[in-house]
Amino acid sequence: MLTSSSAIDWDRVVDLELLRHLSAVARRRGLTLGWLDAAGDSSLPHANLDESGTCPWAHGSTECDARLLSVLAEPGEWHIVEVHPSVRELVAPVRVGGAVAGALLAGAFAADDTSDLPTLGEGEIAIIGDLLARGS
Ligand SMILES: [Zn+2]
Repeated sequence: MLTSSSAIDWDRVVDLELLRHLSAVARRRGLTLGWLDAAGDSSLPHANLDESGTCPWAHGSTECDARLLSVLAEPGEWHIVEVHPSVRELVAPVRVGGAVAGALLAGAFAADDTSDLPTLGEGEIAIIGDLLARGS
């Protein structure tokens, strides 16, 4: 179940101490953190690769938000979402009072070495996914 809106101050959440630690771990692997609100606002790691803050793959559409939102209701502590071909992000749903208010994100990484994005092994993905889930 998704809430229609939430009162979460996402920038504040990302600034919490655990997340600062996670952010340092992620940054060492070339990833950044982001967030997604169930109401639609977002700060997507793969869209923040440059200063513009817009997704370089979506060509103006919001397909990446939709893809990330679609996994929020699925069971599990975290998910790997292929937001664009070979562009992946880790998604850890944030639940408030039993409802999904949004998610913490880490990315972007690649499934293979065909791009400049970092590639992560399964073990690395699991470690960052678990840290992300603990932060959420
Ligand atoms: Zn995108």
